[in-house]
Amino acid sequence: MSEIPLRRVRVAVEAPQHSGLTDPLDYLGPQDLTPGTLVHVTLGRRDVMGLVWDDLPEGQDLPEEEQLPESELRPVGEALDALPPLSDRWRRLVEFAAGYYQRSIGELALAVLPPQLRDLDAKQLQARLKKLDKADAEAAKAAAAATGEATSAPDRPALTAQQQAALDALAELAAREAPQPALLWGLTGSGKTEIYLRAAEAALERGQQVLVLVPEINLTPQLEARFAERFAGRSIVSLHSALTPAQRLRNWLAAHLGRAQLVLGTRLAVFASLPRLGLIVVDEEHDPSYKQQDGARYSARDLAVYRGHLEKVPVVLGSATPSLESWQHALAGRYRRVDLTERIGGGALPRVRLFDMNRLERKKGVTTALSVPLLDAMRKRLERGEQSLVFLNRRGYAPVLHCDQCNWKSDCPHCSAHQVFHKEDRTLRCHHCGVTTRVPRACPSCGNPDIAPLGRGTERLEEQLAQALPGARVARIDADTTRLKGSLESQLAAVHEGEVDILVGTQMVAKGHDFRRITLVAAVNPDGALFSSDFRAPERLFSLLMQAGGRAGRDAAQAAASEMWIQTWYPEHALYQSLQKHDYEAFAGSQLHERMTANLPPFAHLALVRAEGRSVEAARDFLTAAQEAAQALPLSLGLLLYPPVPMAIARVADSERFQMLIEAGNRAQLQRFLRAWLPALHALKRRQKGLTRWAVDVDPLAI
Ligand code: ADP
Ligand code: ZN
Ligand code: ZN
Repeated sequence: MSEIPLRRVRVAVEAPQHSGLTDPLDYLGPQDLTPGTLVHVTLGRRDVMGLVWDDLPEGQDLPEEEQLPESELRPVGEALDALPPLSDRWRRLVEFAAGYYQRSIGELALAVLPPQLRDLDAKQLQARLKKLDKADAEAAKAAAAATGEATSAPDRPALTAQQQAALDALAELAAREAPQPALLWGLTGSGKTEIYLRAAEAALERGQQVLVLVPEINLTPQLEARFAERFAGRSIVSLHSALTPAQRLRNWLAAHLGRAQLVLGTRLAVFASLPRLGLIVVDEEHDPSYKQQDGARYSARDLAVYRGHLEKVPVVLGSATPSLESWQHALAGRYRRVDLTERIGGGALPRVRLFDMNRLERKKGVTTALSVPLLDAMRKRLERGEQSLVFLNRRGYAPVLHCDQCNWKSDCPHCSAHQVFHKEDRTLRCHHCGVTTRVPRACPSCGNPDIAPLGRGTERLEEQLAQALPGARVARIDADTTRLKGSLESQLAAVHEGEVDILVGTQMVAKGHDFRRITLVAAVNPDGALFSSDFRAPERLFSLLMQAGGRAGRDAAQAAASEMWIQTWYPEHALYQSLQKHDYEAFAGSQLHERMTANLPPFAHLALVRAEGRSVEAARDFLTAAQEAAQALPLSLGLLLYPPVPMAIARVADSERFQMLIEAGNRAQLQRFLRAWLPALHALKRRQKGLTRWAVDVDPLAI
């Protein structure tokens, strides 16, 4: 056997962040090893999966003396070459995301592949592929048999003039050499989904693959069902974290091999390998769940736009209340705005009634109760056999238990937060660290047997509604009632079947569902967000209320009688005034004006460094030192470095948490600065005693 000449190859491996190994590492591999191939390599003493990366361009490799000599490089192990290599474009996407969100290429590349893929050897992979081939062959046979029985073409509604105009605009964009992203702005029920379906159909007919991103898969079963129905006979797969590892691998492979025509998934699906990608749809593009909250904190919406640019394919961002970032892009002409201004069937939007809580009689204990007029409105619905939805973004029975003798409160021993009272199982639960204790019989501090719940969560609201409206069938949907697999689906089904008169819930019920019989939506205590320290809180509140209101009156016949009630202490607030007129545009305009004046996104670019330590000093000193390191860098000139401050909930699970904000007028400048600065933070971390974790969040959503 002749000796095969080996060469230096770069392999992306999942090196722990603290190792400081951020780039692909050098190994020795065969000459013909293609970038994008999965290979086993040794890292330290472990056998890990790696991904062959591109050679550095001529002249950009390290100077000879900094490279490990070839004689010291380890050879790559087994290659999984039965799998077509991950494409050049896919690697560029990963490279961009790693650079932008300040992670290593290897960490990101391997984190976004299906977990099971990492554990396979070449033989196991071949077995998987064979199994997939067999399943596909059977499916094809079944499909052929079905067409033999003459399938009827799916029912497609005739487009409205507005929808037709929207589609024409999208088709015109798609025909361009480098399509501009489109922002599809349309009320709930204005027919956006129909636009996605038609645009997808056009791409499928061109033989391309379509990627549809949704915020949370279990909250959008109807969207999935509509795609499945419209494209019966096509190969549709889903990609999200609730799949079993085996399903996820199978679906990922189907996409990667070009067999899946349509991929429907949550944020992680933005990294799906799609050799013939022709269209990306991002539904509810404003939804915060597109932002990953740990590891590489990427925004799938933003990466979708970048991917569209990279692959020169159209991207459709859809929303009734676009993120202010996207809205500003559209105003500036970077995105093409496409509007749907009418609800299908001419359905009106619910009338918004701002109920002024100041009008309530001020008696002890009734201040935040359900107002009499609201209860009357619900009673009317009840008599007519219609449904009401009551929305409160706080689960549990009451946010705190309180002793009015000694002022004891049910504080979490591990967090700077209260433990929430859950009446159902008589527990006190911390929603931040999860610690759960039994409800004490008497005040633990003074023995007073009369400790009382303060405030109200969904559990208590459910109880109050059942008391106030005897005979009404009240149901509740929140994270507590839907813990078991399948329970959300069955509870939603009960609502659809009309087995529920009044549905109480958190934001879970405000999103996506197409409830036909709901004619009243009420938000009983939404004011908190008006005064939040997070500058995005009003934006989130507005979109949540618009979305919740969109649940009402989806049947045109009932639309005229539909109402949305807001119980508020601030009925004159500009946010509610815009909401009352369903005027997103006015709301966005005033918010953007405020953001511009305050130099906030989208007019400035932010990065947040968070630190957690076993003591306040550990977390704070780390950030103070980090700040000094930043100030020493010439690249920090012109940036605003805010001093470290405790996070809004400063202590969670006995960890003290601090954060430091960096503000830049321009993205590229922020990127250059972070790249120069972060190595210093890795070094500081090793020196700072008591610091448990730190992380950088580029374009943070919650501040
Ligand atoms: P959105 O996604 O904006 O909430 P949908 O696409 O779900 O709106 O449309 C709302 C409802 O109207 C759906 O039940 C849909 O099937 C129906 N619909 C959409 N377009 C048309 C049309 N052109 N003709 C008749 N019905 C339509
Ligand atoms: Zn007490
Ligand atoms: Zn806690």
